[in-house]
Amino acid sequence: MKVTDHIKNANGKTLFSFEMIPPKKGNNIQELYNNIDPLMEFKPPFIDVTTSREQYVYIDKGNGLLDRKITRMRPGTVGICAAIKHKYDVDTVPHVLCGGFSKEETEYLLVDCHYLGIDNVMALRGDAMSHQKYFEATNGGHQYASQLVGQIQNLNCGKYLHDVLEADHKSDFCIGVAGYPEKHIEAPSLQTDLKRLKEKVEAGADYVVTQMFFDNAKYFEFVKAAKDSGIHVPIIPGIKPIAVKRHLQLLPQVFKIDLPEILIDEIEKCDNNAKVRQVGIEWAIQQSKELLDAGAPVLHYYSMGKSDNIEAIASKLF
Ligand code: FAD
Repeated sequence: MKVTDHIKNANGKTLFSFEMIPPKKGNNIQELYNNIDPLMEFKPPFIDVTTSREQYVYIDKGNGLLDRKITRMRPGTVGICAAIKHKYDVDTVPHVLCGGFSKEETEYLLVDCHYLGIDNVMALRGDAMSHQKYFEATNGGHQYASQLVGQIQNLNCGKYLHDVLEADHKSDFCIGVAGYPEKHIEAPSLQTDLKRLKEKVEAGADYVVTQMFFDNAKYFEFVKAAKDSGIHVPIIPGIKPIAVKRHLQLLPQVFKIDLPEILIDEIEKCDNNAKVRQVGIEWAIQQSKELLDAGAPVLHYYSMGKSDNIEAIASKLF
């Protein structure tokens, strides 16, 4: 079922969902299941699975030289989505990226999703590769998420690449896109970024999931600004419990987000990461309660693959 239908059917009740990352190549899927298992009692109607793009790895050739190879360290998003859907009877949302994929490869991936009964996809640009300063479109791929949304929407109309097919069977994907309450790192202003978000919605996006934020006022202002600019699809808040002290530097640096002073103070007082994790849980519970009271359609948690903190949060709310 579509994410938007889950929201409609909930009749104003806030839903619980979360995102998982695929295991590293060579690892078992069991650990992923071990992390999903305790969250199923909170009845997520859908679970997202992220995609990471290709990266360089350096292999020691033993003669003092290194061989540079390109590989995807966490492959298998669509397969994992199918496996989770089958095991738990829950909808899954594979993240689909521009970066690292040609339009042709994206089409194959979408056809696979359709055959597997996956009704939702999250359309994202992805980031630059680690050696690049700026994102560059992959050869034959998209530059912006709005173009990827356009490709998915075309498929929903039975229009495949190169117009080689007269399709009598159309996909019907519900399309999610990313939104940034504190603006995307590359955007010159929040207003311009909102214009870009509107382009994604006009291209066919059905809902938005936000980047993490730690001050709910940022989300509320963003939702209002989005509505004022004519964006009327559901905007799902993304919540990340802080888990380690290093997040104090890492999260602002990677995601260009601010942390509230009180939260920083509480984390700085902690002399180990177990205490930091507890502060992160308590902060996320307070954030979630306020978002629930304000009628957010879904509370969507970033798990980073470990679910004990999400479980502690959800047990207080759902
Ligand atoms: P876009 O919407 O394409 O925007 C990227 C930048 O380009 C923005 O600054 C925007 O303002 C600008 N822009 C857009 N259109 C135009 C235009 N026509 N002209 C000029 N500028 C334009 N990354 C992963 O690698 N894997 C994941 O699974 C993943 N999941 C995510 C889930 C969520 C909920 C979120 C919020 C992010 C996720 N990301 C993921 C990160 C995401 O890929 C990055 O934030 C990326 O840098 C931007 O992706 P986007 O889809 O927002 O890009």
